[in-house]
Amino acid sequence: MKILKFGGTSLKDASVIRQVARIVTDRQPDIALVVSAFAGITDRLIRAARQAAQGNTAYTQEEKAIEEHHLAMIRELFPSDRQSSVISQVLLTLNDLHDILHGIFLLRELSPRVLDFVMSFGERLSAYILSEFLNENGTKARYLDARRCVKTNENFGRARVLYEQTNAAIRDCFADQTDVAVITGFIASTLNGETTTLGRSGSDFTASIFAAALRAEEIEIWTDVDGVMTADPQMVPSAFTVPFLSYEEAMELSHFGAQVVHPATMQPALEAHIPIRIKNTFRPEAAGTVIGRQKVKWPYAIKSLTAVREVALISVIGSGMIGETGIAGRIFSTLAREEINIILISQASSEHSVCFAVAPHCAQKARQALQKELRLELLEKRVNRIQVEPQLSIIAVVGENMRRTPGIAGKVFMALGEKKINIVAIAQGSSELNISLVLAADDLPSALNAIHRTFFERENV
Ligand code: ASP
Ligand code: MG
Repeated sequence: MKILKFGGTSLKDASVIRQVARIVTDRQPDIALVVSAFAGITDRLIRAARQAAQGNTAYTQEEKAIEEHHLAMIRELFPSDRQSSVISQVLLTLNDLHDILHGIFLLRELSPRVLDFVMSFGERLSAYILSEFLNENGTKARYLDARRCVKTNENFGRARVLYEQTNAAIRDCFADQTDVAVITGFIASTLNGETTTLGRSGSDFTASIFAAALRAEEIEIWTDVDGVMTADPQMVPSAFTVPFLSYEEAMELSHFGAQVVHPATMQPALEAHIPIRIKNTFRPEAAGTVIGRQKVKWPYAIKSLTAVREVALISVIGSGMIGETGIAGRIFSTLAREEINIILISQASSEHSVCFAVAPHCAQKARQALQKELRLELLEKRVNRIQVEPQLSIIAVVGENMRRTPGIAGKVFMALGEKKINIVAIAQGSSELNISLVLAADDLPSALNAIHRTFFERENV
């Protein structure tokens, strides 16, 4: 069996959904589909819930827009004599949504638990409509609400999967079934049946969970690009598709902003050794990128460049930190307590400073928390200052061949040196899979092009 996952961009409008139906018809039987909500709907649901909780009646406009979006889709997809039954089912579901939003409005209260329930409507509606559309077009399909089988703890908003119960329930749901299941991505439920979600973009993860439980032979992630590329083609016009990545390379890339596969997705697939193939809904003939374990020959020293366009670099600087134990520990526990995600860390061996990159909107919060935590050190001048540098970017140079090839870092620096691009900080994980550089955001496009040229476009690479 193969699991095919279609994200929001593959469900953008009626013509793309027709394209999805063609892809599905070509591939059945022995497939199951996992879908996201229609493009933009999860964001709208969140907005509506938040507005309702603030007592802002504008939520009813969001609600109306959500309703209109789904009804318009049905009108475009189904012949008129079939529309009314699909519409009445969808209106029933939307009625529930209406009641819940009204409840939030009256109570002015929105807990993570209620928000998960509100968000679940997006996938429930898209999966239902797609299953009906497939049935209408000659593929026997059944709607499968993943809350029936994906079981989680009660960490609403980003629930943890209980694999034992989940795997058993999934196998149960697929016993003696031949119809193509259209599964709601992203949503799950607690053992008590309360709705949970797996975190934003969690539909990829749902696909991986089902694939592992069913021992699928492959997961296909259908999206709007040909696969993972050597660089972002919008910034590097000569970028091309990478046919193969290891799980580790893919994780490294998605950590640094390549939004092709959700990082958590890889875990169940990796453990069950299931390859993940990235495919383009708009160009199904393109081979795509396979993430897996097979060894494929690749002539270049690196696989791909990725970038986090906007970061802030925070440096904790002071000669009194030299030889001092525990400061780094305290810095990072403080950030963890504030739930600030660290994208990259670097410490010079002089121990004179520690620096790390965070998303720009967290920078001030991080600095304030550190100033509080290190106030004594600041007072005694063991720490001289905590500095924030905004408007920076990170480039991550990723590839497993690096492990065996000396001189990669040298080539990267040379490429930037030739362009007179200043490097603000550097980090390399001991896995030697990734060299990351921090540089001015303005330098990002020319830096990416220079590094790309060095590794992929010159002779004898
Ligand atoms: N609809 C959810 C989101 O927008 C899950 C997904 O798209 O994968 O985050
Ligand atoms: Mg997505």
